[in-house]
Amino acid sequence: MTTSIPINKVHAQTEQTDVYAKRMELYKKVEAVTHIPWFYLAAIDQYERTVRASRRDLPKATGLTGIYFREDQWSGALNPNKKDENPLSIQFFNGMGLDGNGDGKASITDDEDVLYTFATNVLSYGTDHDNIKIALWDYYKRDKTVGIIIGKAKIYHHFGHLNLDSHAFPVPLRSNYSYKNTWGDARGWGGRRIHEGTDIFANYGVPVRATSYGIIEMKGWNRYGGWRIGIRDINNNYHYFAHLSGFAKDLRVGQVVEPGMLIGGVGSSGYGPPGTSGKFPPHLHYGMYKDNGVTEWSYDPFPHLRLWERQERQNAKKKR
Ligand SMILES: [Zn+2]
Repeated sequence: MTTSIPINKVHAQTEQTDVYAKRMELYKKVEAVTHIPWFYLAAIDQYERTVRASRRDLPKATGLTGIYFREDQWSGALNPNKKDENPLSIQFFNGMGLDGNGDGKASITDDEDVLYTFATNVLSYGTDHDNIKIALWDYYKRDKTVGIIIGKAKIYHHFGHLNLDSHAFPVPLRSNYSYKNTWGDARGWGGRRIHEGTDIFANYGVPVRATSYGIIEMKGWNRYGGWRIGIRDINNNYHYFAHLSGFAKDLRVGQVVEPGMLIGGVGSSGYGPPGTSGKFPPHLHYGMYKDNGVTEWSYDPFPHLRLWERQERQNAKKKR
């Protein structure tokens, strides 16, 4: 069977693939001169790109790299020329900007100069894992940011490429399940202020699967959520799975996952000490949170669930 895909969609996919190839080329180039492994550079770059996309006070990334330097950071706080591209005067005014591509200019709009500048700053601490962590802490002054970037580095290292955007629906499509848009409802199980997620009702023990590429950030018991798992994806999203009947065998915090991978089972755990179960019908509580480098907030997973469900159904059709 042939499925016709609209031309502009094919075009967009090809363009995205090109961007990944060009980005990887940039990371490898900077890795070659700084000896900082490409997957750390990819992780920093992706973190910054995602933060910029979710913040109104920062300009959106337009180039290949997502790394953002303020003009005064780049040229030096006391530099009278905020647009300075001369590496010597930038250095004189203690600006960070460096010439990465060897054209004699330190340009804030040049991808290679920008990534090289960030990498060189990290390099002053060393190129091993612990020193990179210290460099990131000194730069961002935020534990959570360092954790998110290190997690991304692990994900990129594990898969060896940048194309990690596909998703899966959290329960198998052939299982018997139902869900409605209930985000923000006043009622949840136990009267929380608002309901921060979508409840997917299914039978006890129905497989629960990772919805994205990511890393397990949290696994354990919580009085309200019962047995639950938190997964961080490469776009700074935190995917929260609660009320599980149990966890997939050998699943551990820090493990890299991919869409569709088994992580646990649908259950009704929660609302009591560890092991309490059965106080409400079995369902998967699925929540999504976004970190923007300063704070994290909950947003409605329902439209995403609908999209992933539809995509998975279409892909299954194509394979038949
Ligand atoms: Zn819920």
